Amino acid sequence: MSLFEDDRRFNARLQKLRFFPLAVTGGAGCRLRDESGREPLDFSAAWGAASLGYGHPALAGAVAEAARDPAGASILSGATAPATRLAECLLELTPGTGERRVWIGHSGSDANEATVRAVKLATGRPRILAFEGAYHGGIGHSMAVSGHVAQEGVDKDPGLTLVPYPDPYRPPRDGQAPGAAVLARLEALFATTVPPEEVAAFFIEPIQADGGLIVPPEGFLRDLAALCRRHGILLVCDEVKVGLARSGTLHCFEQEGIAPDIVTLGKGLGGGLPVSAAVGPAEIFDAAPAYSMQTLHGNPVCASAALAVLAEIEGEGLAAHAREVGGHLAGALRTLADRQPLIGNVRGRGLAIGVELVADRTTREPATQATALAMARCFELGLVVYCVGMHSNVLEITPPLVLTREDAEEGAAIIAHALEDVAAGRV
Ligand code: PLP
Repeated sequence: MSLFEDDRRFNARLQKLRFFPLAVTGGAGCRLRDESGREPLDFSAAWGAASLGYGHPALAGAVAEAARDPAGASILSGATAPATRLAECLLELTPGTGERRVWIGHSGSDANEATVRAVKLATGRPRILAFEGAYHGGIGHSMAVSGHVAQEGVDKDPGLTLVPYPDPYRPPRDGQAPGAAVLARLEALFATTVPPEEVAAFFIEPIQADGGLIVPPEGFLRDLAALCRRHGILLVCDEVKVGLARSGTLHCFEQEGIAPDIVTLGKGLGGGLPVSAAVGPAEIFDAAPAYSMQTLHGNPVCASAALAVLAEIEGEGLAAHAREVGGHLAGALRTLADRQPLIGNVRGRGLAIGVELVADRTTREPATQATALAMARCFELGLVVYCVGMHSNVLEITPPLVLTREDAEEGAAIIAHALEDVAAGRV
């Protein structure tokens, strides 16, 4: 059977392969370099991790300095000075009241993992709510509370209930508004099979990233926060991919004027080095047992990298920059959509942009194979861009936050060229 004969198998392979023959040897700014000396523009930033791009002097300097004077190795052997400073910095930057804690780890997965354990232990409640399409991590509990197709076959948390993520491009068939439909579904669940007093926490990505870079309708997060508050359910915002300036504000949830109970961070926090965090109430994280810690959590080199990233975000105004350049890029892609019928929808905030490809604009049938061809053609033409979504049909644009307008225009032109070639059957 060829790769393309069976859509389902094809989709499963796409989810795993991700996917080019790209052996990276280095990079500078928003460009990678591969073994053959090519220097493609990077519209992924390693899935959002390389927030400052490649070879950023502030990040390189902070890492070198910390490696020369390593101040301990992990917070298990006594809090390292950089990790303590990072915790203080994150407390300052993250809204919240009362006594709070910062849990420091080395991946988005482990930050969500620690959070799942902590909320269950602290509240004594066995249930978790999350969204279909959500990706909260690739280990144990973080995977068990996710709803992504890439994790089909993984044992889910026995207390997990998934509800649809409100998608303005794919609203419910019965004509209900997408946000209202989800809230009504939740109230119905609370009245029947999911007693709210048994729910410890609700996990949400303020923009659902791996599920398709879906931006929920305005007001939805606010309504969800109110619903959680009414029922005494902790709201956990997973800002691992879209947080820390990517969406055009430091935290994406700020745009809805809410303050979640717990915030998880990762990826761009370390600019490519492994560091993550969860910020939330002391009474929740004090319940997390010592075995939530791993040997190198709080490693001073990684914590120093995170401090350098946060300083750059603030000092260089990278949230405003992401808003400005991202707006310009989304505008160029919308102009392209006017003449390229493969594009069903362009959405996003700041430098988190999704371009959904469809086989037919009326039925909105996902163009999974065309998306794979477009990614491959973009790569040939000098652009790294990957796809996300439950049908792998959304080009995900999460470049380094230092992307310039010229980079944005170059990347948009390559996408235009690639889509023309795909539509014309030239690839
Ligand atoms: N949460 C979100 C929203 C993510 O997008 C991801 C990774 O894609 C994770 C958590 C897991 O992060 P990591 O791969 O660093 O463990």
